[in-house]
Amino acid sequence: MIVGVLALQGAFAAHQDRLTALGVDAPAVRTADQLARVDALVMPGGESTTMSHLLRTNDLFGPLGSAIGDGLPVFGTCAGMIICATEVLDGRPDQRSFGAIDVGVRRNGYGRQLKSFESDLDVSGFDDPFRAVFIRAPIVERVGDEVEILACHDGVPVLLRQRSCTVASFHPELTPDGRLHAMFVESIESPS
Ligand code: GLN
Repeated sequence: MIVGVLALQGAFAAHQDRLTALGVDAPAVRTADQLARVDALVMPGGESTTMSHLLRTNDLFGPLGSAIGDGLPVFGTCAGMIICATEVLDGRPDQRSFGAIDVGVRRNGYGRQLKSFESDLDVSGFDDPFRAVFIRAPIVERVGDEVEILACHDGVPVLLRQRSCTVASFHPELTPDGRLHAMFVESIESPS
């Protein structure tokens, strides 16, 4: 099992640490050749406008879009969630996303840097709460009928899944708790 981590920009190294701790091979992905060798991909937090730009300048946007269309499992966190969404509000006009999950998200929807916060979430299927770190997080404003909601914060969905695309508006890699990465890896091994 090889779970690549998109490493153009942002918080990719901590995702690699979480996956490696689970015994999963987690190479950095920066090129289409590297992408072709993975079974799944994590798209980290960072800055979605920059990530969108770098995906295009690294000739990765097209290959990654095709791979997602062919069913490549992806886990988008924070900026990665924005990149996965069908609809981006308050984005830059030239910013692009893959439409891998039918949600409308507003960039920086919880406010800017000062509005970063942590919260204990009840996650569907988990016995104990998951500590979630939100940093200039996108807020989900619309959820399509096909989308499964796995956790909410103050009534707003923050962890969602549609087919092979899972997204979190927070940073699951910034605590030592590897349960969400394990959940993603399990979903690759036994797709629903
Ligand atoms: N606000 C960032 C964006 O718009 C996301 C922040 C994050 O990934 N922590 O891309």
